[in-house]
Amino acid sequence: MRTLLYSSQTYDRESFLAADVPSDVELHFQPARLTLDTVALADQYEVVCAFINDDLGAPVLERLAAGGTRLIALRSAGFNHVDLPAAKRLGLEVVRVPAYSPHAVAEHAVALIMSLNRHLHRAYNRTRDGDFTLHGLTGFDLVGKTVGVVGTGQIGATFARIMAGFGCRLLAYDPCPAEQVEALGARYLPLEQVLAESQIISLHCPLNEHTRHLINRQSLSGMQRGAMLINTGRGALVDTPALIEALKSGQLGYLGLDVYEEEAQLFFEDRSDLPLQDDVLARLLTFPNVVVTAHQAFLTREALGAIAQTTLDNIRCWAAGTPQNQV
Ligand code: NAD
Repeated sequence: MRTLLYSSQTYDRESFLAADVPSDVELHFQPARLTLDTVALADQYEVVCAFINDDLGAPVLERLAAGGTRLIALRSAGFNHVDLPAAKRLGLEVVRVPAYSPHAVAEHAVALIMSLNRHLHRAYNRTRDGDFTLHGLTGFDLVGKTVGVVGTGQIGATFARIMAGFGCRLLAYDPCPAEQVEALGARYLPLEQVLAESQIISLHCPLNEHTRHLINRQSLSGMQRGAMLINTGRGALVDTPALIEALKSGQLGYLGLDVYEEEAQLFFEDRSDLPLQDDVLARLLTFPNVVVTAHQAFLTREALGAIAQTTLDNIRCWAAGTPQNQV
């Protein structure tokens, strides 16, 4: 089966070629993002393998189906970027990687917390510049602090376990509470109460019509003054201009983002020679208490290996008529 991997980076090529590639699967790596402009590259490819910022809206899916594609194999857990009704109408099967390493993402959320709390991003630059002063670098002990976990699926539960290890008090919000999270001592409360009582809030829920802009001007005003917000979920879980207002007023004390609502045009590309056209992101990057990473939470060796192997297994099972991990 001819398989085209859009948005493929060097690390994707390495992890797929190191995996157990079925003999009838022919892999072609394409660094370009899947868009209406690049969809023609997939003509005669039975399988298209896509990542999170690829365009899988109806017009692109229609063009893929017309060009002979039959399977969309997502290299991600999230599928909010796929027009599923259109895929169904066109007879395109969509499969995903439901779990590759919840540790990769949960540990990155913790890395953002630690960087922001202990100002590692500033200390790194300061010492490299020969400035060995400590003013402005005061942090806080994590032990005893209240951490709110929004979404306690695989990643949220793993994150909760790590924070329990720091000696934090855990609050959680999820329409489907998890016994394993309660067993850590977490209390499930309504979202407003979790936001109001937590010093650190970390988002681990999927993006859908109920969670879009879950964190907005109103929910920010209900948080503790100076709280820390971490988003490794999806960019549109938060209303970014509202975050900027809250940072300017001091209502939000720290912000760690691995995802950004408008990331599709920016992330995974080297744009260091170009003027940044996105004024909202440009403003965010001016705050000393903001750390932005470019959707790298998934990027561990273990996660890449699991993504590659599960994707290849998904393709093999679909070809054998026993599809797995369907969306
Ligand atoms: P999961 O399906 O195991 O867990 C999601 C949890 O969110 C579930 O328990 C669900 O009940 C809960 N939920 C649903 N609606 C909710 C709501 N309105 N409020 C609160 N909770 C709600 O998914 P997961 O594997 O833990 O992944 C979570 C999200 O993390 C994914 O949807 C994806 O968007 C994101 N993610 C990001 C990266 C990254 O690199 N930054 C990588 C993988 C996943």
